[in-house]
Amino acid sequence: MMRCERCAALVRTRSRVVPGAGAMPATVAFVGLAPGRFGGDRTGVPFDGDRSGAMLRRMIRIAGLRRVFITNVVRCNPRDAAGRNRDPAAGEIANCRGHLRAELELARPRIVACLGKVAWRELAGRAAPFTPEAPRLATVGGMRLFAMYHPAYVIRGAYPESSYARDFARLADLVRSPAASGRAVAPD
Ligand code: SF4
Repeated sequence: MMRCERCAALVRTRSRVVPGAGAMPATVAFVGLAPGRFGGDRTGVPFDGDRSGAMLRRMIRIAGLRRVFITNVVRCNPRDAAGRNRDPAAGEIANCRGHLRAELELARPRIVACLGKVAWRELAGRAAPFTPEAPRLATVGGMRLFAMYHPAYVIRGAYPESSYARDFARLADLVRSPAASGRAVAPD
């Protein structure tokens, strides 16, 4: 994974490959979008060093979640022509799919929390509705999934921080409930 060059455009824009990091086995695996240029691309750790990372880690701490694993749909920072973060292209997401699946199989989380619609669609598919304002457990393709907004959405003021904290508390309750016993990701 650390030497992967499947995405030609991302090989040019990345500073490094940013693999998932955290506890194995994990209670929750958080799956975001891509390493940010001020965050993971600089520090080598997903959601570390930028405002989104600070928001996510603060919410995890407030909710009392332990043994989490944090990763992204793609492992390299995508940038536009002006050098700003951009969303990964569909082909780049497809290229990185095997790396994400391998990480989740290693982390063996009880619940996979999808941070934003891109992560949700990657793991739940397009047919399953993305409903982060009424989050609940959904089992799709053998995975126990939980839809949440990306922290950047909350930082932009598009979703109240108090509601986001409530969603994390709900996730923490679910982790402790019988509904989340066993592992969310079944091995092949
Ligand atoms: S985003 Fe994933 S598939 Fe693309 S070059 Fe980086 S590690 Fe490889």
